[in-house]
Amino acid sequence: MPQSKKHKKISNRSGKTSSKALDNDSTNSLNQKKMHKSISFINQKDHKQNNNYTKFSTKIFRDSNYMSEFIKEVKSNNTLVKCMKCPDSETKKDGKFIIVNNLYSHIKSKQHLNNTPADEKDKLNELIRLISEKVTEKVTDQKHKEKEHQDIKNYLHFVAFMLRQNLSYSQIENLGSYLQKANQDKKLSFLKGFSFDERLVSKISQDCFRPSMLELIKDDLNTRPYSLIIDNATFSGESLCALKVKYLTKEWNKDLEENITVIKNKILALTNLKESSSGQTMRSIVENKLFTSEEIRDNLYGIVHDNASSLTSPNIGLISLLMQDGKELFDLKDPCHGLNLSLKHSLKKLPEELMNFVEYMSNHFAYPQRKALLRKVQEENSLPILYPKKMAPTRWQLG
Ligand SMILES: [Zn+2]
Repeated sequence: MPQSKKHKKISNRSGKTSSKALDNDSTNSLNQKKMHKSISFINQKDHKQNNNYTKFSTKIFRDSNYMSEFIKEVKSNNTLVKCMKCPDSETKKDGKFIIVNNLYSHIKSKQHLNNTPADEKDKLNELIRLISEKVTEKVTDQKHKEKEHQDIKNYLHFVAFMLRQNLSYSQIENLGSYLQKANQDKKLSFLKGFSFDERLVSKISQDCFRPSMLELIKDDLNTRPYSLIIDNATFSGESLCALKVKYLTKEWNKDLEENITVIKNKILALTNLKESSSGQTMRSIVENKLFTSEEIRDNLYGIVHDNASSLTSPNIGLISLLMQDGKELFDLKDPCHGLNLSLKHSLKKLPEELMNFVEYMSNHFAYPQRKALLRKVQEENSLPILYPKKMAPTRWQLG
């Protein structure tokens, strides 16, 4: 009977010499060819899609000695292993070829369970438990990493959003800390049910917070002396009168752990002046907005203003009107306004060239390099370091 070298080899290895065995061998040979074909197919695929097939590594035993007893490496293809408990579907011989990727599902399969001897069932169950544990651990770890990545993205989005709103760094810090605390205390569920429409927020501020805050200030003014600051200003064509109160109160200090005296400086009212800003109009504003009780009227000890005629004119100015019924007030004409006025009048008396020179010097030293040079000259001559003041033609100019 004609036999290839390969046939002989196989029949010798299996030790079977009967004609039936030879027949088997020839079937085996056919199956082996098929097997080689499928292995080379997997190899090809493996070559194309390197990441799809896990390669054999002793790590797959997951610290289990039992698994290494029946799972064997396939030397010719490192993406396959053999299960020595199960017969291969093609060759019908023990040693089922399994892609490394499918190893764990095979061990958990009914087929493998059926092929496992009864006295090894406990070991198998133990192995399945170990695998499930490790796989769950891996999945949880992966999910944790994904969540962390998403959290970082969401965090950066939120910070970017706040920066786009031109909030200062310290406002962002405060807002962030508030949200963090509220989240810890599980107080953020309102986000689902409430709107932040600007008209609504404005209503809340005017109709909800304002009356209650005003009440708190009035409570303070009822029980202690205070001074009143009053001024008018024009904003986009509207004339407004602002009332501000200033008084001392005790407040708990967390660091010092005791009550300390603090100065309260509160805006009490902003009123539209409409057409008139006379002393009488100002008086009705003060009467209506501030003097809501006799105690508050009595506790007013001082008044600060910019010396405008509607306030200071004898008999018809606000201060005269307030002091009509014998009340005494400490009347402080704001010294900054006074100083500003005297400077304005003095400058008019100076020769024009002098002011031009002052302006020229101020512009000259507006450049940091020129300031640095001036500093160098002063240092070299051991002189105190001085710079010319910046010209501020407008009153209250900052910077
Ligand atoms: Zn098996």
